[in-house]
Amino acid sequence: MKNIAVIGAGTMGNGIAHVFAQKGFKVQLIDAQATALEKAMATIEKNLDRQIAKQTITAEDKASTLANIRTYATIEEGVVHADIVIEAATENSEIKKKIFSSLDEHTKPDCILATNTSSISIGQLAAVTKRPSLVIGMHFMNPVPIMKLVEIINGAATASTVTDTIVALTKTIDKIPCVVKDAPGFIANRILIPMINEAIYAFSEGISDAATIDQIMKLGMAHPMGPLQLADYIGLDVCKNIMTIMEEGFNNSKYAPCPLLVDMVEAGKLGIKTGEGFYKY
Ligand code: NAD
Repeated sequence: MKNIAVIGAGTMGNGIAHVFAQKGFKVQLIDAQATALEKAMATIEKNLDRQIAKQTITAEDKASTLANIRTYATIEEGVVHADIVIEAATENSEIKKKIFSSLDEHTKPDCILATNTSSISIGQLAAVTKRPSLVIGMHFMNPVPIMKLVEIINGAATASTVTDTIVALTKTIDKIPCVVKDAPGFIANRILIPMINEAIYAFSEGISDAATIDQIMKLGMAHPMGPLQLADYIGLDVCKNIMTIMEEGFNNSKYAPCPLLVDMVEAGKLGIKTGEGFYKY
């Protein structure tokens, strides 16, 4: 595998492009928004400078990493030579279905189609293609250049050879693959997001203030970040959407988003990205 196309140049897409380009892959970074592509390249450059400052890479490594990335405005132009596509576009099943249908049309017939979705069913995305055996989940963690885990999600139709290829590919970029089955929230978010939701309930009931709730989980469970701080970092809208996807997917009200979470999202308090969530930024 040499050519990796990444769809979506946002928070996750730029990190995914960064780690593959740094390992010598040719990366085609594709986004519908020109500003997202500009911002992504600036972010990658800033993160490479940080690595130089920490002496983990050299200036030559930075130059070769940047030279390995090309940006494209459309899927048609960007994916023609891809051996694998990693889709990291907005978490919306209609948007992703359209992208997968277009990828099926424009990629080589043996190109693997992976998605970085946090919670959308792999089977749903595979179903819009004529190659469901080549569709798989590749769920990176944020920030991608730092976090080691990649949760690999097998759809019902994913071929075992495809899983083996993706496990091997994950190891070549120095990440650790963990393979799971396709189910709402997979494993990481099925456990993490209900914990955050429960912390929001405790906060809304006035059991304690945000800083104390976070301190308890940091000191007591050795979590690097408390759940409310983490919710602000992930984005409250993302947390709410994942709860809703699990509530609907399992048909179980225990996954209903806490009413305060819903209210905060409706009020535009989404965390760091809007300047306010459980904390002010
Ligand atoms: P983001 O909003 O930062 O970036 C999404 C990008 O996709 C945007 O730049 C947007 O312009 C682009 N896009 C939308 N539709 C497109 C299309 N049709 N063609 C090309 N580009 C398109 O989102 P993000 O936080 O990077 O999340 C991307 C994916 O990664 C989602 O599926 C999300 O669930 C998943 N994810 C996010 C995190 C996280 O912490 N942010 C962690 C793990 C997984």
